[in-house]
Amino acid sequence: MFFDYIVVGAGISGAVFAHKIATQLNKKVLIIEKRNHIGGNCYDKKDENNILRHIYGPHLFHTNNKTVVDFLSQFTSWSIYNHEVLAYIDGAMVPIPFNLNTLYKVFSPELASRIEKKLLEQYAYNTKIPILELKKSNDKDLQFLADFIYEKIFVNYTAKQWGMKPEELDSAVTARVPVFIGRDNRYFNDTYQMLPEEGYTALFNKMLDHPNIKQMLNTDFGEVMRLDDAGKLFFLDQPFEGHLVYTGQIDELFGYKFGELPYRSVRMAFESVDAEFYQTAATENYPNSYDFTRITEFKRIHPVNSSKTTILKEYPQPYVRGQNTPYYPIFTQAIQERYNQYQAHAKNFKNITLVGRLAEYKYYDMDDMVESALEKFETLQKSVGK
Ligand code: UDP
Repeated sequence: MFFDYIVVGAGISGAVFAHKIATQLNKKVLIIEKRNHIGGNCYDKKDENNILRHIYGPHLFHTNNKTVVDFLSQFTSWSIYNHEVLAYIDGAMVPIPFNLNTLYKVFSPELASRIEKKLLEQYAYNTKIPILELKKSNDKDLQFLADFIYEKIFVNYTAKQWGMKPEELDSAVTARVPVFIGRDNRYFNDTYQMLPEEGYTALFNKMLDHPNIKQMLNTDFGEVMRLDDAGKLFFLDQPFEGHLVYTGQIDELFGYKFGELPYRSVRMAFESVDAEFYQTAATENYPNSYDFTRITEFKRIHPVNSSKTTILKEYPQPYVRGQNTPYYPIFTQAIQERYNQYQAHAKNFKNITLVGRLAEYKYYDMDDMVESALEKFETLQKSVGK
């Protein structure tokens, strides 16, 4: 067989693995990708107005992990970019995560100041409190605040985004957007917040530009590969004795034997608007109105001279196999147990590495994904003694 490794999926995890296999192991690797492009959900593309669109929704890179930054910096230079989000609450656009500035925007100065004092007695300055934690507060004013934030920011947005109540989801999901006991209006507080200067697609093109790497786009895994019950792999009906790095859905790989793992999908609706700018922040959330969750304006992320602007409205939907894209794994206790069955089953296959948001069924951010792929590659590297 010509290839020593096959990587399924050309998103972050697949691309990191392919690059490492090619450069560190000096082995030949084939990437099989269902879509007609690399980069996975990070894929971006300039539109007719020269505005860079994030085709699968806004991707804002942020991390505290210097190893991840150093790794990615081999393939791109960066533009500093600190994401800010406003949310439409009671007729006004206010900063989120809900912070001390937001407090003064939604309440009278007297009430805001009383609540601020209580928050600072209870919590350290510049700390993040998950809304479900704040809701447990015994103080009357803080209970009032928690109920306000829960109602105005979380409950309806989460109903749109997930079709569930915040407390039905793993608490880590809503904890991503905490209540912030500080005055920093940025969406993230990480040390490194930046964007690849030429975009994500350019970054991934560079990562995969190596003579040991071949790409097979427009190809579903099942069209060219097969896994039999005994754990043998076949590529184009020939036994494949190499190693498979699989970044697709774990339930699909194992023929849905323990049932389907559910996902949430999103319909991405782009619009070109005949105006210099459409809104004041890069992303504006609509927790209580409309069917979409948020609007992102790409010119505010990648500045460009144009008399037009491009916006994206995100409409969350149920994921239906074969019809739309699985974006977000859904985290409930029962589903986690189903995933655990797949994970336990996967341990029987020594020649397969599972990595990425779909294969690990995790709500990974981009930096987590790079970190996880680098770590899993090291494990693979040790196992082959290089
Ligand atoms: N969330 C919310 N209201 C908001 C923003 C976020 O309720 O205005 C909740 C919602 O459940 C969402 C989660 O927090 O799914 C995580 O939000 P984040 O912005 O991190 O989601 P992503 O950008 O990954 O879609």
